[in-house]
Amino acid sequence: MPTYEYRCKECGRKLSIHRPVEDRDCLPLCVGHTEHPYRMVRTFSFQMAPVFQERYEPSLGVTVSSNRALMDEAKRLSAAQSEITGLDCDIQPVALSDTKALGVDGSRLEESEKRAVDSGQREAKLWL
Ligand SMILES: [Zn+2]
Repeated sequence: MPTYEYRCKECGRKLSIHRPVEDRDCLPLCVGHTEHPYRMVRTFSFQMAPVFQERYEPSLGVTVSSNRALMDEAKRLSAAQSEITGLDCDIQPVALSDTKALGVDGSRLEESEKRAVDSGQREAKLWL
């Protein structure tokens, strides 16, 4: 079964579903909106793992040509950091768009915005 990728045009949220070909155009609803659900659009589909080409991995700051090389590089950087810091470091590549993995969420956005407005750095803006 192929994996199909869908994206919400409204908020950019992505979703991958492993499903039969005949179900591919049954568009899922984005879970990001409870009041007015938006249908996601199909963006990309593939049947096999894509061929790994040389690419720059921004989370590690290295250029690699295979997943194996990427993991070797992560291991090498971990060892180097452990050596420098004396702490047990385990560096893993992470998608910079994966805000959850990066520990970034919008939970303190309002507080931060309020602080900016209170200190006069920014004019009040209505958050919807
Ligand atoms: Zn959405």
